[in-house]
Amino acid sequence: MAELNRRALLMASASIPLWRMGNARADLSAHYDVIVIGGGTAGIPCALFAAQNGARVLLIEKSPALGGTLFWSTGQIAGAGTIFQRELGIQDSPDAHFDDCMRINEHTADPELTRLTVDHAGETINWLAANGFEVMAGHPVTGIGHDHFTTRRYQQGVRSGLSILDALMPSLEACIARGEVTLVTSTAVTGLIQRADKKVVGVTAVGQSGGHDILGNHIVLATGGCAANPRLFEELHGVPLYAKTAYPTSQGDGLLLGMSAGGAVVGGEKYASLPGLIPDAFQYPCQMYAWAPLNPAIRQPWEILVNASGERFVREDHPSVHQIERSIYRQPGHRHWAVFDSAALESGEPIIPDWSRERLAAEHRTHPMFYSAMTLRDLAFRAGINAAKLTSTVQDYNRQIDAGDVDHFSRVHRPGTLRKPPFYAIAMQGWTLVSFAGLSVNRHLQVLDNERRAVAGLYAIGEVIGAGATSGAAYTNGMLVTPALTFGRLLGASLARAYVLP
Ligand SMILES: Cc1cc2nc3c(=O)[nH]c(=O)nc-3n(C[C@H](O)[C@H](O)[C@H](O)COP(=O)(O)OP(=O)(O)OC[C@H]3O[C@@H](n4cnc5c(N)ncnc54)[C@H](O)[C@@H]3O)c2cc1C
Repeated sequence: MAELNRRALLMASASIPLWRMGNARADLSAHYDVIVIGGGTAGIPCALFAAQNGARVLLIEKSPALGGTLFWSTGQIAGAGTIFQRELGIQDSPDAHFDDCMRINEHTADPELTRLTVDHAGETINWLAANGFEVMAGHPVTGIGHDHFTTRRYQQGVRSGLSILDALMPSLEACIARGEVTLVTSTAVTGLIQRADKKVVGVTAVGQSGGHDILGNHIVLATGGCAANPRLFEELHGVPLYAKTAYPTSQGDGLLLGMSAGGAVVGGEKYASLPGLIPDAFQYPCQMYAWAPLNPAIRQPWEILVNASGERFVREDHPSVHQIERSIYRQPGHRHWAVFDSAALESGEPIIPDWSRERLAAEHRTHPMFYSAMTLRDLAFRAGINAAKLTSTVQDYNRQIDAGDVDHFSRVHRPGTLRKPPFYAIAMQGWTLVSFAGLSVNRHLQVLDNERRAVAGLYAIGEVIGAGATSGAAYTNGMLVTPALTFGRLLGASLARAYVLP
C-alpha cells in the first residue's frame, strides 16, 4: 500500500499544481487570523474551513507537498448517517457509533473527544462525498482489519488515503487562488512566539528564504504524530519504536512545540501493539519484511502462537483481534512465534496474505526470521525459544485434540495436531504505525497544561493529540483519520467565527 501511494505521488508530481509549490509571494509580515502548522489530514480541512468562514489563514507545511500521512494511510473512516449508508438502507446513529467505539477500546478513549468525533463524523463523510469521495465496492462494512462494529458504517476510498486528499484539494486550491489561504511549503515551524502572559501569538518558520517570525490570533498544531522519531517515541511511550512504518514527516515537531509553550503530553501508557510484523532484522526500528495479520476474522489459524519461553499465551482464534493484540503486548519484548508443522503448511491457508505455499516454504530456507527443523527441539534452538517447554506445549496441544478435550485457551478451530515434520517457526514482533501519546486538549481543542488550563491561543488536532485520545488503547476503526478530518473542519470554522465549539 505504501509503495503504491509513493508511486502515485511520483506520478502526480509530473504536473505540479499551485498547492504543491506554495505561494512564492506569501506576505509573511502580515497578521493572520489563523496559522495552521502542518498541511496533512487535519491541517487541510482546518485551513479550508477557517478560510471559507472568513478568516485570513496561513498554512505552513514543512515538506514540498501537502497531504502528509494521507499519501500512505489506508484512510478508513467511519460515521453514522452517511449518504453511503442511506443508499444501502442502513439505519445508524452517533449514539450507536459511540457505544461501538467505546466497546472496542474497552472505554480507554477520551469520551468527550469520542463524542465530538461521532456526533460530526457523518457530516464529514457526506462533505467528502459531495466533493467526489468514492468508496470501495460493498462499503460501508462493519470492519476490515480491527474488531468490527455492529453496524455497517466503515469505509475506505477507492484510492485509500489519496481518495480523501483528492476530495480536499480542489476546494483548498480555490481558496489559495482567491488569496483566502496563504500557503508556504518546504518551510518548518521551529518555534512558537509566546507573550509574557503565556498567550501564543505567533510562530517562527524556517524555509529556503531563511527564518521568519509570523504573528496570528490562533495557532493550530496539525503536525502529525511522532512514530517516525525513534528517540521521542520511546521517551513518550516507554516502548521502543520497533518498526519504521509511519509517514517520515511524523517526527513529533508539534509535540515539542506544544510542550515548549507549556502543553502537557498524555496517553503514552495507552500504547497498543499490532500483531504479526516479521522484521527484516531484530534491530530496532526495523523494516517490515512481511506481515501476518493473525486476525481470525481474516484467516482462521492453523498454527499456535508461543512466546520466548515456549508457552502459548492466547486463544489463537479469539473472535476479538484486540484481545490477541493485548496478549501479545503482555509478552516480553512483544515478541511471538507462529509454530506449525508440514501438515499445516500443506493444507492451511498461508499465514501471510498473498503468499503461496511454495513461497512460504522457500522463505524457511533463506530468511533469518523463518526457521525449520525435523524436531521441535531443534526448531526451538534455531528460533531462540525454550526447547523443553516448546516440546511440552506442542505435546499438550496435540493430546487435547486427540482426547477431544477442551483446549486450554478455549480455542475452537483446531484443524489438526502438529506432528508432521519438518516443523516451522516464524519470528514476529508487536508493532505500531501511530503514536498514542499526544498533547492534552479539551473539547474546544485548546492545548492544556499539566493543571488542565488552556494555553491561550494554541490548539491541536490530528495525531499530535495522540491516538490514545480517540482510539484509546486499541485500534478502533477509523478513529484517527475520522477525528483528524472532523476536528479540522470544526476547529477551522469555529476559530473563523470566533466562538467556541458547542
Ligand atoms: C500506513 C498507515 C495506514 C493508516 N491507516 C489508517 C486508517 O485506515 N484509518 C485511520 O483512522 N488511521 C489510519 N492511520 C493513521 C492516520 O492516517 C494518521 O493518524 C493521520 O492521517 C494523521 O493525520 P495528521 O493530520 O495528524 O498528520 P499528517 O497527515 O501526517 O499531517 C501532518 C503534516 O504536518 C507537517 N509538519 C510536520 N511538522 C511540521 C513543522 N514543524 N512545520 C510545518 N509542517 C510540519 C507534515 O509534513 C505533514 O504534512 C494510518 C497510518 C499509517 C501510517
